Amino acid sequence: MNMNQQEGRVLRSLEGPAWDLVAYAKTGGYEAWRKCVADSKPQEIVEEIKRSGLRGRGGAGFPTGVKWDKVLNHRVKERYFVCNAGEHEPGTFKDRHLLKHAPHQLIEGCLIASYTVGAKASFLYVNHEYHEEQENLQKALAQAREKGYIGKNVFGSGRDLDLEVFSGQGSYVAGEETAMLESMQGRPAMPRQKPPFYPTDFGLYGKPTLVNNVETLCNIPLILRKGASWFNEVGTEKCPGTMLFSLSGAVTRPGIYELPLGTPLRDLVERCGGGVPNGRKVKAVFPGGPAFPMVTADQLDLQMDFDSLKKAGTGLGSAGVIVVDDATCMVAKTLHFSNFFKGESCGQCPSCRMGTINLASLMTKIEAGEGTQKDLDTLLQIAGFVKGTGYCTLVTGAAVLVQSALKLFQDEFEAHIRLQRCPYQPAPVTAGS
Ligand code: NAD
Repeated sequence: MNMNQQEGRVLRSLEGPAWDLVAYAKTGGYEAWRKCVADSKPQEIVEEIKRSGLRGRGGAGFPTGVKWDKVLNHRVKERYFVCNAGEHEPGTFKDRHLLKHAPHQLIEGCLIASYTVGAKASFLYVNHEYHEEQENLQKALAQAREKGYIGKNVFGSGRDLDLEVFSGQGSYVAGEETAMLESMQGRPAMPRQKPPFYPTDFGLYGKPTLVNNVETLCNIPLILRKGASWFNEVGTEKCPGTMLFSLSGAVTRPGIYELPLGTPLRDLVERCGGGVPNGRKVKAVFPGGPAFPMVTADQLDLQMDFDSLKKAGTGLGSAGVIVVDDATCMVAKTLHFSNFFKGESCGQCPSCRMGTINLASLMTKIEAGEGTQKDLDTLLQIAGFVKGTGYCTLVTGAAVLVQSALKLFQDEFEAHIRLQRCPYQPAPVTAGS
C-alpha cells in the first residue's frame, strides 16, 4: 500500500514486526505512559490535550480534551474506556492500518486515556473481520504485559491497568459508538438516542465512558512526549495536527497519506495520488466518504480540514477520500452507495428503514432507464423528509448523497430518463442498424 511513512508523524516506519515492543521503545515509545504513571496528574494531562487542540479522527472532529474532561470530572466514579476500532466508513481504511502497523502506539494511547479518566475497565473494540490486526494487537499486548507496562503493578507503581480486546460485530452501524456499547453489553447493535445521552454521561453499563477513535489515540503519546505546541505547529489554527487520509478510487497511487490538516485536496489527489490514471480527469470527489456532499473538479483547491469543508457545504468525516473520474456514471455511483446505506440500516428507526429502501429502489429504477421526471422530484422529497431523522447519521448520509448527486449531476439523471438507458453503456443494437 502507498503511504508517506517517512514524512509522517503518526505513521512511522519501524524496523521488525509491528507487535515487537523493542522498535517502538527505541523511538521513545511508552515514555509518555511511564511519565503519566510516575508523576502526572490526570487534570494536567487533560489540559495538555486541550492545549494541543486535538479533535476526534473518527468522523466528527469533536475536541478530544473536552471529552476527556467531561469523563474525568463526572460525579459518577465508575467509568469505562473504549477504543472504537469499528471502522466501516466506505473509503476509510486508516484505522486498520494503524492497528496492524502501530499497535504499541495505540496501546500507549489507550493506557494514557484509561488512566486519565480513571476507568474501571478498558476495551479495544475491533471489527471481527480484522483478523491479522487483532492478532498483532494481542501479541503487542502480551509483550507490554510481560514488560510490566500493562496489568498488575504497572512500572512497579502499585497501580493496575489492563486492556481487553473485544471482537466487534462488524457492521457499519455497530461502529456508531452507542450501537457499539449496546453490542458490548450483549444487545443488538442499534444506536441509542443522542443527544442528550452521550457516552461521556451514559456509556457502557449506563456509566460515564470515554470513547475515542484509533487515530485519535495514536496521537496521544506524541502530544504528551513532544508537547502540545509541537503538535499544533502543523495544521490550521482550529484543526491542528496531521490527519491520515485514505485515498481511493480513480487515482494512480491509492493509499494512506498523512498530511497536515488544511492541505489542499489537489495536493492529495495529484502529488500523493499521482492524479487520475488513463488520461481521464477528475469528475467528482467524496472528501469525507459518501455521507458528505461531493465536490467537483473546480474545487480541488479546497483545504482539507473539518472547518473549511464544513464552510464549503460538505465535511471531512474520517477522511475517506474517494475520487471519481469523468468516465464514471454518477447515477450508477450514487446507486452503489444508496444500496450500501440500505443494506447497513439496522432498521430501528422507521424513517431510516423506509427511507433508505425507497431511495435505493428509485435509484435502481432510474439507473435501469425506467425512471421518470417525477421520480427525481420524489427522490428529493424523500431525501428532504428523512434527513436529520433517526438515532444515528446513517439515513442523513443516504439523503445527503442523493441530494448532492442530483444537485451536481442533474443532467446525468435526466439523460437516463430521456434515453431510457444509462448513457455510459453502449446503446443496444437494433435490427437493421
Ligand atoms: P457526533 O457529532 O454526534 O459525536 C462525535 C463525538 O463527540 C462522539 O464521540 C460523541 O459522543 C461526542 N460528543 C458530541 N457532542 C458531545 C457533547 N455535548 N458531550 C459529550 N460528548 C459529545 O458524531 P457521531 O454520530 O458520533 O459520528 C458521526 C460521524 O462518524 C460522521 O461524521 C461520519 O463521518 C463518521 N463515521 C465514521 C465511520 C468510521 O468508520 N470511522 C463510520 C461511520 C461514520
